[in-house]
Amino acid sequence: MHCPYCRNTDTRVLDSRVTDDGGAIRRRRSCPECEKRFSTVEQMQLVVVKRSGTTEPFARDKAIAGVRKACKGRPVSEDDLSRLGQQVEDVLRVEGWAEVPANEVGLTILGPLRELDEVAYLRFASVYKAFESAEAFEEEIAILRAERAAAAIPPVEPERLVELVETTSSTNNSRSG
Ligand SMILES: [Zn+2]
Repeated sequence: MHCPYCRNTDTRVLDSRVTDDGGAIRRRRSCPECEKRFSTVEQMQLVVVKRSGTTEPFARDKAIAGVRKACKGRPVSEDDLSRLGQQVEDVLRVEGWAEVPANEVGLTILGPLRELDEVAYLRFASVYKAFESAEAFEEEIAILRAERAAAAIPPVEPERLVELVETTSSTNNSRSG
């Protein structure tokens, strides 16, 4: 570990402690050369297992690439997307995954994405939740509507939702073909 101030290659550990969530170790270090102090965090590497069986380090940008597509034309900012990437990584780390299946990453995205934008959630869910039928997908929409009604939020126009579902399905077909 190089000193970030003078690039000296030798640093001294003053203190080590496990972070509150237990997922990392924070070390307070000092540089014997310039005497400045700094902290490092040692974290278990989170690895994603792809459907093909190959693994790669978890990358927030990659994890939310599909979400970015689903958010096209929606009022979701880049900040929202980075926050979502952070949330997803936090959840996976707290759940203690060392090697997380790619579809599990997708499922973890669903909750926070639903809070962020319902339409983007439906588009994304149609891919990652792998709805077995149009009925299952409609059921999900019905649940969302019921929850909205319970929370007294003005609903999205039903016609608009159907249109979105159709757009999503045709996108899926062209992707798999
Ligand atoms: Zn130094």
